[in-house]
Amino acid sequence: MPTFEYAPASESRAVVDIRSTYGLFIGGTFVAGTGGIFTTVNPATEEPLAEIAEASAADVDAAVKAARTAYTRVWSRMSGSDRGKYLFRIARLLQERAREFAVLETLDNGKPIKETRDVDVPLAAAHFFYHAGWADKLEYAALGPDPRPHGVVGQVIPWNFPLLMLAWKIAPALATGNTVVLKPAETTPLTALLFADLCRQADLPPGVVNIVTGAGPTGQAIVDHPGIDKIAFTGSTAVGKMIARSIAGTRRRATLELGGKAANIVFDDAPIDQAIEGIVNGIFFNQGQVCCAGSRLLVQESIADTVIKRLQRRLATLRVGDPLDKNTDVGAINSRRQLDRITELSAAGEAEGALRWDSGCPLPDKGFWFRPTVFTGVAQTHRIAQEEIFGPVLSVLTFRTPGEAVAKANNTAYGLSAGVWTEKGSRILWMADQLRAGVVWANTFNRFDPASPFGGYKESGYGREGGRHGLAAYVVTGEGA
Ligand code: NAD
Ligand code: MG
Repeated sequence: MPTFEYAPASESRAVVDIRSTYGLFIGGTFVAGTGGIFTTVNPATEEPLAEIAEASAADVDAAVKAARTAYTRVWSRMSGSDRGKYLFRIARLLQERAREFAVLETLDNGKPIKETRDVDVPLAAAHFFYHAGWADKLEYAALGPDPRPHGVVGQVIPWNFPLLMLAWKIAPALATGNTVVLKPAETTPLTALLFADLCRQADLPPGVVNIVTGAGPTGQAIVDHPGIDKIAFTGSTAVGKMIARSIAGTRRRATLELGGKAANIVFDDAPIDQAIEGIVNGIFFNQGQVCCAGSRLLVQESIADTVIKRLQRRLATLRVGDPLDKNTDVGAINSRRQLDRITELSAAGEAEGALRWDSGCPLPDKGFWFRPTVFTGVAQTHRIAQEEIFGPVLSVLTFRTPGEAVAKANNTAYGLSAGVWTEKGSRILWMADQLRAGVVWANTFNRFDPASPFGGYKESGYGREGGRHGLAAYVVTGEGA
């Protein structure tokens, strides 16, 4: 099939200044840490971007103290409408500096500029706007009598949507009157550090937001700190379970947003062209490094051959490469470690007998890359049907009846999201009722809105983020202080 050639259309990296070293953002200023140093790289080129301080337990303690002081002296005493003004200001500054954030996110994470520009950054701003509106209306949100903040919240986030996950965590916490200590992931700390700069620009009172960088041990120091009233974690189920164990029996509470293995279910009456786009968006958006990715395609047997052929034809047109190029559809995998995991699980898929296909597109010499890949002939017992691959790899299974589709879709330890493609409204409602998943998309996939709660069933975690339900996780009500 003939394809159009595109001239390179690179976004300028000159729009963002990256410092050679970064400290920790504690009490409104950048301070040198007392721990080690680590390097964050651009996964598309393996080029080092900056040296980052690794916060020690003592540094985390300093951040928690700064957050406590800001909470008792300033933030918990401020009126909701004043808190809202700060959140509106942060939202507007994110919009003003959108290009800078988009380029920095693409450099540090490897995701295409098209996505950071059109999805990550606008949605992050939308989360601040949305929660700014709630700050003075909490009594009317039906959260219970006399909603009050927890106090100091510890937040640990992953590398797949660094700025967006920061917004999901910080916006509701601040709107409800909490102060925060947040740790970004070790491979993607830069937009959180730029956000710290933006907090200063917004004149946010010192200590309301503290950013500590580091890896697992820094996260563990936050989780274990007795001065933290609530933990909000997004990441792997394995670490989520450890967090649940370590806070068991304490008065601290947690919300956990963990992994997923979503079924994207296509019936024979579905609009096929839209469904193909939805399948592509479901698993190849952000290189498939999405907790709610549609990583299992369940397609009705009568249309399976057609769908797979058309899907492969579409995948051959995806442009894989330089994430800063505005024409790029699929960027780099975030780290060598993640690439190794995707490679290992894909090899297991072949070894267990599934049929592997990829588009054969050329890949850059340097950096971490994986071609969009489709496995057919997948059995429910295969590892690629059970385990989260967190990469651009789709496992295709078939079904004959709606009942079989539901049984297969629910046959997983996870329950974060699902998709249903059919023309029949009644079937959509029936399926949504049967599927054990926090979000069910109908004739679309991977759509997000700050007003819509997001979260899991089973091993995908507990608690919701976004919407009125998300606010509930950041307040205590009535006698429950
Ligand atoms: P991870 O759990 O190892 O890391 C996530 C964060 O936790 C990072 O900031 C990391 O430094 C920190 N961390 C690691 N060990 C810790 C510990 N012992 N105590 C406290 N913090 C610790 O996850 P990963 O493998 O880097 O990321 C991919 C996983 O994240 C996937 O399984 C994916 O499903 C999940 N994820 C879930 C969501 C969601 O919303 N549910 C979103 C994004 C990613
Ligand atoms: Mg990086």
